[in-house]
Amino acid sequence: MIAIYPGSFDPVTLGHLDIITRSSRLYEHIIVVISRNPMKNPMFSVEERLGQIRQATAHLPNVEIDSFDGLTVNYAHKRQAKVLIRGLRVLSDFEKELQMAHTNKTLANDLETVFLATSTEYGFLSSSLVKEIARFGGAIGHLVPDHVAHDIQKWYGKNLR
Ligand code: ADP
Repeated sequence: MIAIYPGSFDPVTLGHLDIITRSSRLYEHIIVVISRNPMKNPMFSVEERLGQIRQATAHLPNVEIDSFDGLTVNYAHKRQAKVLIRGLRVLSDFEKELQMAHTNKTLANDLETVFLATSTEYGFLSSSLVKEIARFGGAIGHLVPDHVAHDIQKWYGKNLR
């Protein structure tokens, strides 16, 4: 069965990678998809994010990385995916995610949203938190892969804080 894992991944964190790794054991093929829909001030371009996730998942043979424009359900149909994976951390995620799952169900009844609970060590972790810590010079090596930490530090070296 094919599953898609959509998100912004700006940038990918160890929390996302934990969800990807665990999903790759549940489904034959996982497609991690970056939404090309305009995002407010992303730190990294879609192409940069594609590269970051590809490098971080190179050891997982059944994981593919792609990007898409428009509705997630249309992308899922095109790729014949029957499952949409989302991660859940805190209660506030649940409200937002349940609304999105219900909305998607009205658009595509054959697509099931499957929620994976965050691993305990990543329950607090988000892309924006990583950027916030890095902005003030804090250590992020335990939150993102090394190459992503390097890209973030380079970004702050070039851009105003
Ligand atoms: P989006 O803008 O679509 O929410 P994100 O990149 O922020 O994109 O997140 C993509 C998915 O990964 C979401 O389902 C989010 O809840 C999940 N996620 C993000 N961080 C974690 C984490 N630390 N543990 C588990 N799931 C996570």
